[in-house]
Amino acid sequence: MTWRFALMIDPVAPDEQRSDFGSTFTEVDAAAPALSVGELSTQRGDGVFESIGVVDGHPQEVVAHLERLAHSAQLCDLPIPHLTQWRQAVDRAASRCPSGEYVIKLILSRGIEHGPTPTAWVTAAPAPDFTTPRTRGVSVVTLDRGYDLGAAERAPWLLLGAKTLSYAVNMAALREARRRGADDAIFLSNDGFVLEAPTASLILRRGDRFTTPAPNGGILHGTTQLSVYEHLTARGFEVGYDRIPASDLPAADAAWLVSSVRLAVPITAIDGAALPTDPTLTAELNAYLLSPRD
Ligand code: PLP
Repeated sequence: MTWRFALMIDPVAPDEQRSDFGSTFTEVDAAAPALSVGELSTQRGDGVFESIGVVDGHPQEVVAHLERLAHSAQLCDLPIPHLTQWRQAVDRAASRCPSGEYVIKLILSRGIEHGPTPTAWVTAAPAPDFTTPRTRGVSVVTLDRGYDLGAAERAPWLLLGAKTLSYAVNMAALREARRRGADDAIFLSNDGFVLEAPTASLILRRGDRFTTPAPNGGILHGTTQLSVYEHLTARGFEVGYDRIPASDLPAADAAWLVSSVRLAVPITAIDGAALPTDPTLTAELNAYLLSPRD
């Protein structure tokens, strides 16, 4: 990936009153080293992040992403980001993303070991071309996530609802999926319920009803899933959040993995069994997700 833009942010208190945060930003060479070797983000994965899709210069669903960044920070006892400051940083990054699809990443790390402040930065880079998975779909395997649906509430130190930088497990799950001959994975709780994919939310269709796993079970509440639900509701479909037993998966009339940059990807097979797809609705969802959304 060619990084186009990188901006270091001097975090301020969340109630700081000012309208222009330009003096708290330092643009750095995106190709040059910028972090200290004492960074806890790189040493321990101790921090939170967001990935925002940008289409033709428009950053999508920025408020939803900033709110989730703040929620993740709160779960991790990190300083809460100043939403106007970060919004201005996102807009600065988006102004460097010309036509086409880009990804803006927001990172808030615990900072340098024994240091006084968090480290925060924003990057922008061209997005990979996801035309093939969006149109041809992906096969998935189900993988045990190793905890039950009650774990998030019972053990908040597992940070299950936070989008932390510690994605090594998620990446390992994708490698395992590929070893098993699939493109992607769906995590299951160890009491047999559907959770999410390693980098996406899951939406299932049965008749005219759409369902997704309830976000209180230790998964991320996806901004793309929320956006898709808004669109489906406006189209007159019923949508809901449920406890979905893994045994419901093969009975779906269609299913998608949805996320901010890859967008809506139809699932073509689960654990080797083919699943029906709906190319017309998939194309409609992706056209909607590629339109400017706030
Ligand atoms: N779940 C996980 C674990 C993710 O990493 C992601 C996206 O990165 C999602 C769900 C989907 O979230 P969003 O739609 O906000 O990109």
